[in-house]
Amino acid sequence: MGLEIEKGRPYKGHVVLVPYPRQGHINPMLQFSKRLASKGLRATLAITKFVSSTSINRHPSASIHLDTISDGRDEGRQAESIKSYLSQLESSGSETLSNLILKYKETDHPVDCIVYDSFLPWALNVARKFGLLGAVFFSQSCTVDYIYCLVHHGILKLPIPTLLVSIPGLPSLELRDMPSFIYVAGSDPEYFEMMLHQFLNVDKADWVLINTFYKLEAEVVDTMSKVYPLMTVGPTIPSIYLDKRVENDSNYGLDLFDLDSSNITSWLETHSPRSVVFVSFGSMATLSTEQTEELAWGLHDSGHPFLWVVRASENSKISEKFKLAITAERALLVQWSHQLEVLSSDRIGCFFSHCGWNSTIEALSMGIPMVAMPQWTDQPTDAKLVEDVWVVGVRVRVGEDGIVKREEIEHCVREVMESERGKVMAVNATKWKDLAVEAVSEEGTSDNNINDFVSKILLKRKSI
Ligand code: UDP
Repeated sequence: MGLEIEKGRPYKGHVVLVPYPRQGHINPMLQFSKRLASKGLRATLAITKFVSSTSINRHPSASIHLDTISDGRDEGRQAESIKSYLSQLESSGSETLSNLILKYKETDHPVDCIVYDSFLPWALNVARKFGLLGAVFFSQSCTVDYIYCLVHHGILKLPIPTLLVSIPGLPSLELRDMPSFIYVAGSDPEYFEMMLHQFLNVDKADWVLINTFYKLEAEVVDTMSKVYPLMTVGPTIPSIYLDKRVENDSNYGLDLFDLDSSNITSWLETHSPRSVVFVSFGSMATLSTEQTEELAWGLHDSGHPFLWVVRASENSKISEKFKLAITAERALLVQWSHQLEVLSSDRIGCFFSHCGWNSTIEALSMGIPMVAMPQWTDQPTDAKLVEDVWVVGVRVRVGEDGIVKREEIEHCVREVMESERGKVMAVNATKWKDLAVEAVSEEGTSDNNINDFVSKILLKRKSI
């Protein structure tokens, strides 16, 4: 027995989605929840109690349900290490996710399937304990996932002895294009282990979902699908920017940072179309004070107006000298923004980004060329794709001392904003935008995969 109708559509089953509790992992899973709900599934996003109690603007959508699990740190106490955090997340998460499944068991909408972030392989054990379906959700690019997959299976051996890495299915990669955990061997062993653990039980999952779209990474999707059959379901960004078929889906709606009160929209409107550089390093990356200073002056010297997201924790790195040198007309510094709203503004000519996967796929979906300044984890690989494979941006060159100098920053901004090469990038970006829309529109590759996923869940419900 189930609900006959879920939000005006025939009820097809109940899916609980469990994101890794970080902004860059919550956003895609949240959007995927909305997509599933728009197709008649009941979708419950299980966020941690800490995220639930601290997030701002907690109204993602009337179409999905929010519930909580625990990572054992409901009051936000810092863990000593990522390893100890993950171990507590696993034990408390398994227990509280089990309780959540039990809670729904006696209702008219028991859970049919758990969709879990690939960083949380233990969630599949919970699904199996209750005889539920389990779908792993990869929220990084397929290229990056495949690299980790090869390392996990011992096919790509570390340390890599050559500067150029040639792997069937992937573009040829220099060592610096590899995820940071690989090219700076031993740099973050606990994070690296977490990346490899994504593959512990992937072969046991009922589906392997991935937040990319087929045409964006066709070759590697086909190659990796020979190991695990992949279902591309992206881009998972609000429907209003893509196919516009999901009702009232205009922003993510679950921010872990305070939105800035500055009026970004009216500031943008004082500038002409395609004239503003939008600068954002996502939710986690931190720059050294020296690097922040170089970035600040590089942006300043480029001569283009810029909107720069400087999170509260980074603010003290901005020098007084720089603050005095910029005018309100030329520069707006904010602590957090509705990034998609900004990227969709016709005033933006370039996205200066750390190349987190969400930011990258958001820029592609909005047709905005980029300056890529990767910091760590998957970002160098995304930057490589941006510059050389999709040809929608330039990547900064890092000096021998590890700092990207102001002249380089100025040069890269000018390259995207002023050069003939920049014009080609803008044309390419528009092409990727059209293909992103196509993927999630009716009969698109991602749409077909999502329909297939939904109908298999319905089939399973009917069979019991
Ligand atoms: N973001 C935002 N406002 C900002 C900066 C970032 O809403 O001012 C969002 C952005 O749209 C993206 C996410 O935060 O969805 C960051 O994810 P990404 O994978 O790009 O980077 P991470 O934060 O994981 O390093």
